[in-house]
Amino acid sequence: MQAGKLILIPTPIGNLEDITLRAIRMLKEADAVLAEDTRVTGKLLHHLGISKPLWSYHAHNEHKQIAHLISELNQGKMLALASDAGTPAISDPGFLLVRECLKAGIKVECLPGPTAFVPALVKSGLPSDSFSFLGFLPEKKGRQTALQALALEKRTLVFYESPHRILKTLQQLSEVLGLDRRCSVSRELTKLYEETINGTLQELILHFETHPIKGEFVLVVEGKV
Ligand code: SAM
Repeated sequence: MQAGKLILIPTPIGNLEDITLRAIRMLKEADAVLAEDTRVTGKLLHHLGISKPLWSYHAHNEHKQIAHLISELNQGKMLALASDAGTPAISDPGFLLVRECLKAGIKVECLPGPTAFVPALVKSGLPSDSFSFLGFLPEKKGRQTALQALALEKRTLVFYESPHRILKTLQQLSEVLGLDRRCSVSRELTKLYEETINGTLQELILHFETHPIKGEFVLVVEGKV
């Protein structure tokens, strides 16, 4: 019997041209595609002319799904995992399944491809040789502790943030790191209204106090110098 395999497939974060040839081939070869949202992945597959069984795999059912998925993989299935956008397991479901596959001796591959934090980090002009990716800060519980823990961090800090919290996050970061700390906000990467604004925390706070806040955001902040 052929050995099963899990393949993590990065998908575009905006521009549909950003899917790789290998990702398309793997989606075609997979027995089924695990999708964070079957409607979103269904649309992408339709756009690529691919028809595949879509199995729902998201933050609210991942624990429940693991045993079934491991059993399918053990029976030789090749399963592709795709998030709504970007690389699975990066601030998205995937880590649990990867860990369980490795425990069960099942092969795991992750294709290189789109993810939002890499272009944001590179476009920030801040040191990219050493950085800390923090994903989303906690919304309430643990938020202050997480912010305080950044005070002495020397590495460049990279966060994902929602439009309705970006201003508050910039303000709270300025309280811990100082108003003069350099930072960069990239929004709508790879999309029509892609924009990167570089400046101090104070300048970016002023900017977002006076401009409409729309889209998806990555925030990059200089480490302690
Ligand atoms: N797995 C994805 C990745 O590899 O980047 C991240 C998924 S996470 C649920 C979604 C967050 O990623 C958004 O809230 C935003 O912070 C960031 N993001 C995703 N697409 C983006 C884009 N086109 N421009 C800027 N930020 C983006």
